Amino acid sequence: MKPPAFEYRDPRTREEAIALLAEHGEAAKILAGGQSLVPMLNLRLLRPEYLVDINRVAGLSFIEVKGGELAIGACTRQRAIERSELVRRTCPLLHEAMPFIAHFQIRSRGTIGGSLSHADPAAELPTVVTALGGRFVLRSVRGERVVSAADFYTGFLSTALRPDELLTEIRVPIPPVQTGCAFMEVSRRHGDFALAAVAVLVRFDQDGRCAFVRLVVAGVHGVPFRSADTEASLIGTKLLPEDAENASRLMAAELEPISDLHASADYRRQAARVLARRALECAALRARSHAEAGT
Ligand SMILES: Cc1cc2nc3c(=O)[nH]c(=O)nc-3n(C[C@H](O)[C@H](O)[C@H](O)COP(=O)(O)OP(=O)(O)OC[C@H]3O[C@@H](n4cnc5c(N)ncnc54)[C@H](O)[C@@H]3O)c2cc1C
Repeated sequence: MKPPAFEYRDPRTREEAIALLAEHGEAAKILAGGQSLVPMLNLRLLRPEYLVDINRVAGLSFIEVKGGELAIGACTRQRAIERSELVRRTCPLLHEAMPFIAHFQIRSRGTIGGSLSHADPAAELPTVVTALGGRFVLRSVRGERVVSAADFYTGFLSTALRPDELLTEIRVPIPPVQTGCAFMEVSRRHGDFALAAVAVLVRFDQDGRCAFVRLVVAGVHGVPFRSADTEASLIGTKLLPEDAENASRLMAAELEPISDLHASADYRRQAARVLARRALECAALRARSHAEAGT
């Protein structure tokens, strides 16, 4: 299959890229790794007049620590994040989730910014970055704004990105070392999008009681789903297996998943419940072992 005709633009700087977006507005689409955009063009689901290729734009591919945050350039390949020692050390949740994204060939082209902007509700990266309390740096000729992951996702395949904005950088607060995390997912085959996936972060206080918990679910709503009531129910508990069981039931009761040809709504709810229980138990175990090791 071939895409509809378009004009190709190949900027080399951020300024050139955002000037092109300002000039062409909704008629333009940004091309990053092309792993979601190109299939959509070939299926004629999109018909942009211009493609603005950001692959040669300087300064969009980096992984570094800036002021207590992990900063990742939007055009950084998913495979580079998966293999980054800095990511593994500072942000183990992100490291753990990366191999669940598609296949390594796709991760070698696909970018973090492309996945976050595409906003597939079953995608791993939006879920993990939401759980980590990440923020997105958006640039246009009008200036720069920083949007939290919680505000970025507005609905199915929809974000707060305006047509003339370029996502340039993702900033993720580095979790304290005593944080335990877990990412778990169910998909039909390895590399498929998740039927349900769960990202969890847990920290205990000095008495071994849960002082912080974050639980975000993918694949069950149009946007990454976070249940504040479920999280609140765990604060102050020892996060024993029965606490995890009760919390996962509470969370599952709030879900309104869709049925489609991949799985029924009931299956998705059940899978999310079981994954949440297991991920909470796993993250709690890891947090306790950090506390015992004094790290
Ligand atoms: C067979 C297959 C299986 C897959 N399985 C999974 C999976 O299991 N999990 C998963 O998460 N993904 C999966 N993907 C998608 C893959 O991860 C893509 O890499 C990702 O969704 C898009 O990243 P990209 O860099 O290729 O973006 P592109 O396809 O180039 O762009 C995607 C969208 O984001 C916009 N965009 C890109 N970069 C920016 C930016 N910097 N600023 C603003 N807008 C931008 C584009 O205009 C476009 O609308 C799969 C893809 C394939 C082909």
